Amino acid sequence: MPEIHGTTQLLGIIGHPVEHSLSPVMQNAALMHLGIDAIFLPFPVEPEHLPTALAGMAAIGVRGFNATIPHKQAVMPLLKTITPVAQQIGAVNTVWWDDGGWYGTNTDAAGFIAPLQELARDWSDVIPVVLGNGGAARAVVAGCVELGCPKVVVVGRNEEKLAAFEQSWTAPAIQQRLKVQTWDQLDNWLSRTQLLINTTPVGMAPNSDRSPIDAVQLAQLPGGAIAYDLIYTPRPTQFLIQAQATGATIIDGTEMLVQQGAAALERWVGQPAPVAVMRSALLKALE
Ligand code: NAP
Repeated sequence: MPEIHGTTQLLGIIGHPVEHSLSPVMQNAALMHLGIDAIFLPFPVEPEHLPTALAGMAAIGVRGFNATIPHKQAVMPLLKTITPVAQQIGAVNTVWWDDGGWYGTNTDAAGFIAPLQELARDWSDVIPVVLGNGGAARAVVAGCVELGCPKVVVVGRNEEKLAAFEQSWTAPAIQQRLKVQTWDQLDNWLSRTQLLINTTPVGMAPNSDRSPIDAVQLAQLPGGAIAYDLIYTPRPTQFLIQAQATGATIIDGTEMLVQQGAAALERWVGQPAPVAVMRSALLKALE
């Protein structure tokens, strides 16, 4: 843990519940490594207390915080300025105090694309297929468009929610590239995609024996494809084990978690985050 002094600055994460969050482990390891006089704390905030919590954090000089479920959307009307990426995604996960008000952004899309950018591929002819159309899928779609993918296919099980998802985007770059499909249409896309992403919670512990799609479907992926699961417990998931058996490159959800945290820390402290230190702290905590 960082040492606490009279000068120690406060950072943290608000959520309800927040006890499960791995962000304190990652962020405190990073703050200590950088020698910054700050500490990152979990703040349990019930939904009805959110405005009071933000006013209180402003009053005591909290420098910044992450927002997690259920506050990612609810916090938005309480902010002075929201970055375009967070407006598009419709959620804020990183907030900082500046110039007399709270500013918000979303670092999930940057976190999602970071391990893909490491692969140094040409994305201009890749049509990612995204399983699920919940909150995380929004960051994934924004990330895929930022990568330069010409089209993004989102597969969902509820037609009403899919239609709402499709209509919720305002940026022309996303509106023009997004295609929503129901699960029965998935097989039309599997043999054509180089990037298959699971954003559903299917396969997450304790249901670790489950996978959103079966081995026969995964075998349709073409050579060189990437299977990416946002889940980080277990690692790897059944989805990734089966995809790897077909020859796919696999990416689990830990790197997205590390990189969204690194991008948040850089906002708060204005210097490069020690990503390797954060990754190692996270992996140790997950063990
Ligand atoms: P969410 O908003 O609840 O969305 C989940 C999506 O999965 C919804 O579209 C839901 O469909 C669909 N789904 C749920 N069960 C399904 C099933 N049995 N079959 C087909 N579809 C199903 O959740 P989220 O916030 O997007 O999170 C999704 C996953 O991503 C979680 O496992 C979370 O831990 C992970 N995640 C990881 C990171 C990271 O940094 N690695 C970040 C964010 C999220 P309906 O709407 O029809 O129910």
